[in-house]
Amino acid sequence: MSTIVSIATAPGIGGIGIIRMSGEKTFEIIEKIFKPKNPQKIEDIKGYSIKYGNIVDEEEIIDEVLVSYFKAPKSYTTENMCEINSHGGNVVEKKILEICLKNGAELAEPGEFTKRAFLNGRIDLAQAESVIDIINAKSEKEMKSGIKQLEGFLSKEISKIKQEILDVLVNVDVTIDYPEYDVPEVQENEIEKMLKSINIKLQNLEKSFDNGKIIKEGIKTAIIGKPNAGKSSLLNAILKENRAIVTDIEGTTRDTIEEFVTINGIPLKIIDTAGIREAKDEVEKIGITKSIKEAEEADLIIAIFDSSKELTKEDEEILKIIEGKKVIILLNKIDLKSVITENDERLTKVTKNILKISALNKEGIENIYEKISEMFNLNEINLDNNVLITNIRHKNIISNAIENVKKANEALKMNMPIDIIAIYLKEILEDLGEITGEVVTDDIIKEIFSKFCLGK
Ligand code: GDP
Repeated sequence: MSTIVSIATAPGIGGIGIIRMSGEKTFEIIEKIFKPKNPQKIEDIKGYSIKYGNIVDEEEIIDEVLVSYFKAPKSYTTENMCEINSHGGNVVEKKILEICLKNGAELAEPGEFTKRAFLNGRIDLAQAESVIDIINAKSEKEMKSGIKQLEGFLSKEISKIKQEILDVLVNVDVTIDYPEYDVPEVQENEIEKMLKSINIKLQNLEKSFDNGKIIKEGIKTAIIGKPNAGKSSLLNAILKENRAIVTDIEGTTRDTIEEFVTINGIPLKIIDTAGIREAKDEVEKIGITKSIKEAEEADLIIAIFDSSKELTKEDEEILKIIEGKKVIILLNKIDLKSVITENDERLTKVTKNILKISALNKEGIENIYEKISEMFNLNEINLDNNVLITNIRHKNIISNAIENVKKANEALKMNMPIDIIAIYLKEILEDLGEITGEVVTDDIIKEIFSKFCLGK
């Protein structure tokens, strides 16, 4: 394989920059461009060691650097690797990159280092995918779940299921291939028992995606309410208290700004916050239609009402929209004299989740977080002993596998020949192999790694 190089640190000015190189010619190139203060033959340099010196271009000193050596197979990619720690900054890093290219390295594609780690067998596909999740994590829980996957928790669970199938399939194959031998035929109930067992495991994995999705994507939350109910005051109260990451979704207008707030390590994604703020100037913009749209997209609706005034027609409309949805009703402005209470039947028939707050005085905001935790069982998301599916690709594969378990079961019930059942069992194995990457097309691999950043 070629020798690849890339700047691994984010663009911009920084204390240090890292240029990463991997492949057969790594040490050959580094010997040409790096002059250590204490020169040593490459054979004498141990893996995982660091040397200090200068990067040179012909005779000219480019930068004072530290070079780390990783010797195959003990490196990220399992190939010979070097990491050059240079001064940070766009010019220095680019210059060193150019010198590496000039001396025979090729520019790495996004994710190519991790792709090599996968292709060279150090990690499986699920582990490689977790690297992107860790890098892109927006919350601690998301990062932790990525780390678990990188450690191989998901892969181990998948192997366990595969092993159960294989244990039965081995006997099935013998029965099919050597009918003349006196092998005890695989008992149908043995297959049935196995299918039942793997079905439970697969269903649990599939179910874990509900939590996995929350961890990865956040709870999509819509704050709705008539003008002046207190939406932007509430938003400010939430954002001020929490670490908020504002993201502008690429290619869209200001209309779809989303804001992330982390509560108990779980991101809450508040949709269309621009709309909430813009509504200040153009009151009619935030009509009921808009609320309907937001409510439809949301995992959670926070409907806010001004408790100091009688419910208006608009409020009643909103109550209609939110009926039957996952919703918290907030009675805002409790610092003023209340006209409507939490026992009001018009509210209680919609939901039991009714809280009293004052967005202005930031009173009762904590209770909202507790309520959300309770509604989404956030406290139960325990990453220590559980495998969580956070990746939609994995979720779809598992759903397929469950479908094939079902087909195998039906075939059994219909007393189909054993070779038909064996086909289904093999399909389940293939499905699962797509998660870990044994059975996967080049296109899928390409797509997965294209989502990586450069230098990873
Ligand atoms: P929005 O139109 O729904 O975004 O409402 P705003 O957050 O802009 O609030 C409308 C008005 O109500 C502003 O003058 C706020 O200061 C006021 N307001 C919001 N929350 C409270 C509250 O808890 N108590 C009181 N007294 N006033 C509030």
